[in-house]
Amino acid sequence: MSDGPTYGFDTLQIHAGARPDPATGARQTPIYQSTAYVFRDADHAAALFNLQEVGYIYSRLTNPTVAVLQERIATLEGGVGAVCCSSGHAAQIMALFPLMGPGKNVVASTRLYGGTVTQFSQTIKRFGWSAKFVDFDDLDALKAAIDDDTRAVFCESVANPGGYVTDIRAVADVSDAAGVPLIVDNTSATPYLCQPISQGATLVVHSTTKYLTGNGTVTGGCVVDSGRFDWSASDKFPSLSAPEPAYHGLKFHETFGNLAYTFHGIAIGLRDLGMTMNPQAAHYTLMGIETLSLRMQKHVENAKKVASWLEADPRVDYVTYAGLPSSPYAERAARCYPKGTGGLFTVALKGGYDACIKLVDSLEIFSHVANLGDTRSLIIHSASTTHRQLTPEQQQAAGAGPNVVRVSIGIEDADDLIRDLDQALTKACG
Ligand SMILES: *Cc1c(COP(=O)(O)O)cnc(C)c1O
Repeated sequence: MSDGPTYGFDTLQIHAGARPDPATGARQTPIYQSTAYVFRDADHAAALFNLQEVGYIYSRLTNPTVAVLQERIATLEGGVGAVCCSSGHAAQIMALFPLMGPGKNVVASTRLYGGTVTQFSQTIKRFGWSAKFVDFDDLDALKAAIDDDTRAVFCESVANPGGYVTDIRAVADVSDAAGVPLIVDNTSATPYLCQPISQGATLVVHSTTKYLTGNGTVTGGCVVDSGRFDWSASDKFPSLSAPEPAYHGLKFHETFGNLAYTFHGIAIGLRDLGMTMNPQAAHYTLMGIETLSLRMQKHVENAKKVASWLEADPRVDYVTYAGLPSSPYAERAARCYPKGTGGLFTVALKGGYDACIKLVDSLEIFSHVANLGDTRSLIIHSASTTHRQLTPEQQQAAGAGPNVVRVSIGIEDADDLIRDLDQALTKACG
């Protein structure tokens, strides 16, 4: 599309980044299944390798199908650029890579996807990085945790496994005052329900595996840059502000301005870490994003109906869904997430661990899988699966205790989902 009027979300989710194929006129974005691209001549090749000209060299770095997806997600999030990766976890490493170094830390919310807690508390130590976990409702504790070695603050907008929503503006005020970028994982909310950049986030990461693709077909991730952080304001971010030896002393921030972080992600991140999204995955995710707003509306509508029904059922101890009036986060949800808080929540059963296991095994429509954000309704017993590597304290903090199941409400008929839960609860709780 041309740089004309600003279009609405429903238009952009279909058109942003895409144009008819210049070679064939193909209306849908082709899957450019090519590893390499022919240089016009030796000078063209040299200019591309020196980052003096933007173009396609090799699909570990850039691919035309993936490029359309990058532009689409950047547009929907209100960022200046985006880099797609092979998975959501790859996106998190790619997001931190230009910021961190040995001895540096990230200050992260306690309420995170279980896999992220493991990645941050265990695996990143092998790079000499570390994470400090803090309750992001306690802004003084967040402020106190940020020290001279902190290079990023990290949280989820609508947190997985559900029931918690972050006040991104309040968190951004703290990270801004400390001169540290704020990274928001917007996987569970999607840009339809929340645009973290408009609330002060520096970077947004996604597992495109979930709602953006929407039907459980491919894994992928994305890092979106707001283009607003001044990487040269301090000497804390030398990867972006200081001369880069691998490109003859080029300084990314000085040379590429507000696209510095995105260019670094491609020219250093994808080039050397190789966590590349393949063009087939980009195709499936582009197909999914075309209907994102419609699906999210239905996920929210169904989640509200099912959560309300469960909350009133005597076999259920409690339901944590930020979209319920009974939620301690109801006021924040209405203020910061006016279109809804997504399709994820947790349910605690009075029958405890055993009832949870029986429930999961008795459902017919719900699938017992380690995934979320599918058109299909999904359920998992987090404590014995996704959150298994966590300590009991970490499980409780993440809302994934032994008496709790996490559901990802799909876009089927809500009445059918309720009937299925009713018959399974009867088997599980007698
Ligand atoms: C699934 C998920 C991830 C990890 O993404 P993968 O694509 O599975 O690597 C990260 N954050 C959140 C909130 C997720 O739901």
